[in-house]
Amino acid sequence: MAERLPVDVLVIGSGASGLAAAVSAERAGARVAVATKGSLQSCNSAKAQGGIQASFGEDDSPEIHAEDVWTSSHETADMRLVEVLTGDAQSAIHWLEELGVQFTRENGGYRIAKCGGASRRRLLQVGDRTGHAITTGLRETWEAGAGTTLAKSQLTSLEPAANGWHARCGEHEVDAAAVVLAAGGRCYQEAADRGELSTNHPGATGEVTQLALGLGAEARDLDALQYHPNGGAWPANMQGYSIPETTRAYGAVLLNKDREEFTDSLGPRDAVSQAIFDEVEKGNGVETQDGRPAVLLDTTRISEADAEVSLPYMLRRYRAAGIDPLQEPILTYPVLHYQNGGLVIDTEGATTLEGLFACGEIAGGTHGRNRMMGNSLLECCVFGRRAGKAAAERSKS
Ligand SMILES: Cc1cc2nc3c(=O)[nH]c(=O)nc-3n(C[C@H](O)[C@H](O)[C@H](O)COP(=O)(O)OP(=O)(O)OC[C@H]3O[C@@H](n4cnc5c(N)ncnc54)[C@H](O)[C@@H]3O)c2cc1C
Repeated sequence: MAERLPVDVLVIGSGASGLAAAVSAERAGARVAVATKGSLQSCNSAKAQGGIQASFGEDDSPEIHAEDVWTSSHETADMRLVEVLTGDAQSAIHWLEELGVQFTRENGGYRIAKCGGASRRRLLQVGDRTGHAITTGLRETWEAGAGTTLAKSQLTSLEPAANGWHARCGEHEVDAAAVVLAAGGRCYQEAADRGELSTNHPGATGEVTQLALGLGAEARDLDALQYHPNGGAWPANMQGYSIPETTRAYGAVLLNKDREEFTDSLGPRDAVSQAIFDEVEKGNGVETQDGRPAVLLDTTRISEADAEVSLPYMLRRYRAAGIDPLQEPILTYPVLHYQNGGLVIDTEGATTLEGLFACGEIAGGTHGRNRMMGNSLLECCVFGRRAGKAAAERSKS
């Protein structure tokens, strides 16, 4: 029988939210273990490209940011969580900088872009590999500490125990006073079930949500899945690639087969995705060489200077596939991307079950039924930090 590992806080998942929770719990004095399905690196967070929102602009504020979230969510978000999200945003950015993340700067400040649904420019970036930079900073900090990493250790069972929780993670039996669920969403599995494309990592399969629901945890908006308006449609090796929303922030527009604009390219995600579906339905789309529906994203309107600073990875990938987005439009179509809803949490990441916390994409409420881009990485850092600290405190009580 496997030896039992006693810890104060067990974190499930090693994306941005799990790592933020683990670092935060350890800094609060807890003995922490992170159990994750694959390697420590494997997660959706590392794939995030576009950026992370925080209201650093002179004409911006946490309140304006919160209003944008409320509007984009069609007034369905939990405003207690939204106020925490936007109110903690600047300190989350400074915390990440302390961990070594270097956001792209210009003119003595952060380079900030305007993303879909936003009324102000507030998207900070690290080139177009923001998620990679954030997870690297978090991972290196976590690995430099004294915590235990259980890689290739999928959570398969979780039960209440006398002093907290008993978990089976791969070969490991773990006793934890508090557990933080940070296992992400389910869009990879959902897309596979529907026969559609997804931007997600193969680990995004949703079984941890099911375990929590089985234990009686409350959830909300679980049916609200988000399409990324701009999945790559062609060439074949770019299918399912999430074309960064910053392409549109820096001037790219959506065109139909007659090269006419048919929607506000910087509208909220659900509105832009629906407009593409509708345009194709009306017969105004184009077809990829393998017969898939698509519209054009005119990336030739992006200036070379903006592309070099904010889209170098995207350019490299398309050019390697034989297409130069600065010379010709690229083909795009919405792809399954994000689970808007999830486990109900309070402002410290506590679920409705004692000693069980949740943060990141597995949690619901912060975005209501429609997330704005750039708010998920922010949510991971803001609520990951809070959930880790609260779980550490709970383990001492
Ligand atoms: C291609 C792409 C681009 C994106 N771009 C942006 C962007 O620019 N800005 C933005 O804000 N957001 C973006 N997002 C969304 C954002 O990156 C994610 O929603 C967010 O990072 C999710 O973080 P997370 O920590 O909740 O989950 P993840 O990063 O998905 O991590 C979940 C972790 O849990 C592990 N896990 C899953 N099941 C189990 C189990 N049973 N047992 C143990 N471990 C388990 C996984 O292996 C993984 O390590 C993007 C997403 C994708 C896919």
